[in-house]
Amino acid sequence: MAEALPRGAKYVVVGAGVHGLSTSWHLAMELEATGRGSGADVVLLDKSGPGAGATGIACGCVRNLYMTEALHPILRHSVDVWMHDPVAFGFQQVGYISCGEANQAEDYERMVASQARAGYPSDLYVGKEGKDFLKAIWPDFNTDSIDVVLHEKVSGYAGTLQAVAGLAEKCRQHGVRIFSGVSVTGYRRANGTVSHVETDHGAIACDVVVLGLGAWTPQHWQWLDLPMNLDVGYRDGTSVAGKDMWTYWRLLEGEVYTDQPYVTSNGINPPIVHVELMNTPVHDERTGREIQDNTYVYWKNGNERMDRPGIQGGTMPIRIGPDAKVEPYGHANDLYQADDWFADYITAAMGMLMDRFKGHRGNFRERRNGGIGAFTPDNVPIADFIRDNVYMIADSNHGFKMTGLGKLVAQFLVRGEKSVDLAPFTLDRYARGEAFGSGTTNCPWI
Ligand SMILES: Cc1cc2nc3c(=O)[nH]c(=O)nc-3n(C[C@H](O)[C@H](O)[C@H](O)COP(=O)(O)OP(=O)(O)OC[C@H]3O[C@@H](n4cnc5c(N)ncnc54)[C@H](O)[C@@H]3O)c2cc1C
Repeated sequence: MAEALPRGAKYVVVGAGVHGLSTSWHLAMELEATGRGSGADVVLLDKSGPGAGATGIACGCVRNLYMTEALHPILRHSVDVWMHDPVAFGFQQVGYISCGEANQAEDYERMVASQARAGYPSDLYVGKEGKDFLKAIWPDFNTDSIDVVLHEKVSGYAGTLQAVAGLAEKCRQHGVRIFSGVSVTGYRRANGTVSHVETDHGAIACDVVVLGLGAWTPQHWQWLDLPMNLDVGYRDGTSVAGKDMWTYWRLLEGEVYTDQPYVTSNGINPPIVHVELMNTPVHDERTGREIQDNTYVYWKNGNERMDRPGIQGGTMPIRIGPDAKVEPYGHANDLYQADDWFADYITAAMGMLMDRFKGHRGNFRERRNGGIGAFTPDNVPIADFIRDNVYMIADSNHGFKMTGLGKLVAQFLVRGEKSVDLAPFTLDRYARGEAFGSGTTNCPWI
């Protein structure tokens, strides 16, 4: 830490992941634009450095494939943020194509209509039209089980390391002071207000604290004396008493080398593919053993992170529970690395879906690839004040798709103008019976 930690700052942002970085940059721009201050009023702290958490190891996929319609406008804001400077952020606006079986047709129709209302252009293809659409892009796509196809035109992916570097650079250009290697150890409070953020390098007086803490959110939540269980009322009238406030899941993602560059029939970088076939099992390519009775995979070009051509993809995360060992984080943690079956599964599913990937089990990139996240009670982000002057962005692992939250939060904190798009993500939705999904949902991304 070259510069001494200041004794006070108007805004202290804790955590330099995608949300801390995006919020800090937007706070600086809002302060400048309104004449109410500048980036020098924003101090961003990270105990390690930018991208040390989930942000630095994610796939970076940005898609709007959610049944939770309130998320659709947030995606529009997020794409606006990425497209502000796609080169700096390594954002590839290749589109996102999700494929399903006939039983998902109604859900897809609802999503397309809602995405259109949110100003997020997408097309729906049904039956033969969908198969033809896929074959035009990937002639070797096995479309037998696919009945519906959703094409989100403005989705894509951010190069994760580039996104971190780009966002940190934006912060610096606007005068935000980023302090790496400064660990927050607690919050000094008078009634509901935090007067100082306490760190291992001394305390910082602050007007407003913003938390963007990913998997570390529950720890800081506890330090702020907030309840670890709560009663959750859902929009469908169901409720669950004493639900865990935070549940950890581990993400399953990995990389597969390809013999040829992964491109479309026109030789360009393909859209991200997402295939969810609940009635189509995946079998081990070598033994024929059924690995899983359904198909749930997504992948994209992985070139920006790989030493030779390949793809990066994943499947459904796995629930851990209310307790997890967060440290050491990510690839360094022995407990949460992807299991062996994951390599069998993703390569077999890819081979089942595209001829070019048949026999690719040996091309799975054997390396550490684990990472965990803390999810909210309804698996939808919370963006709200959790103490009088402490604002939390807990993204429930929606990640790069939620970068727009930082923009909206900064507008709110500086101008006092709360976007209607932020309204559904308040903490009190659980008590008001406005939680998303239902008490029986067990899917982490709804
Ligand atoms: C393997 C994996 C793959 C993923 N793939 C995707 C994907 O394809 N698309 C997508 O949109 N999302 C993806 N995600 C989710 C996404 O990465 C996260 O939701 C997002 O990065 C969380 O960002 P964040 O800013 O909230 O937290 P983080 O990126 O985790 O940042 C939190 C920061 O807080 C710092 N910190 C913690 N405690 C302290 C303290 N006491 N003092 C100071 N600093 C502290 C940490 O060092 C860390 O840098 C993936 C996640 C994982 C794990």
